[in-house]
Amino acid sequence: MDLDIKYSIEKDTQTYINFVYNFKSFKHGRIDIQAILLSKLEPKLQNIITSAENEDAAYKGVFDYLTQMYNENPKLIEDSISKLKTTWEKVGANIVYFLEFLYKKPFPFERVTAYLTTNNIFPYNYEQKYFYANYKYISSQLSTAKHELNHFMFYYYYGSLKDKLGNEKYELLKEAVTFFSNPDQEGKPNELPLRELFKSKLWGSFDEAVSAGAKHLLE
Ligand SMILES: [Zn+2]
Repeated sequence: MDLDIKYSIEKDTQTYINFVYNFKSFKHGRIDIQAILLSKLEPKLQNIITSAENEDAAYKGVFDYLTQMYNENPKLIEDSISKLKTTWEKVGANIVYFLEFLYKKPFPFERVTAYLTTNNIFPYNYEQKYFYANYKYISSQLSTAKHELNHFMFYYYYGSLKDKLGNEKYELLKEAVTFFSNPDQEGKPNELPLRELFKSKLWGSFDEAVSAGAKHLLE
């Protein structure tokens, strides 16, 4: 699988609009997530977001701010892109192999894009096969990549569970199975019972664990 690594001011701006100005996703028990994300930003950027009259104004304000930040030091992000490229060439195949070994199925896509973001949340778009990753830290980028590529495999191989579980539970199960690829991550609060279930025994296969997780959600 090839990973394209890019930075787009438009794409970066979108994360602030979708998750800080609004919150256009399931919270999975994350209380005050929007306020927490806001509090992590530079005061000037916080002010742009909180004082915007509407979404368009917020978009323009954030876009201009990020453009200025980028132009002040374009090397910061460009260097980060080349560092991640070099690292991915060394370890990317191992990450993909790890996921294939977990699922016992091939990784189904040839090309995925990673957009670096200055924000502190890393959403993804399965239809367009891209995910966001931290713009600075390689260890965070690699663990995000493993987490999001796990999602892409889950959507591909377990899409049929969506009708059975309904969207919110299906999404929760998709998050909770990252326990197997990213045991170092805490997970979202609502994942806890599923993570406890996954931890409770050694599963014969990933399929078996996913079925048990689905069954638990329907109880
Ligand atoms: Zn996730």
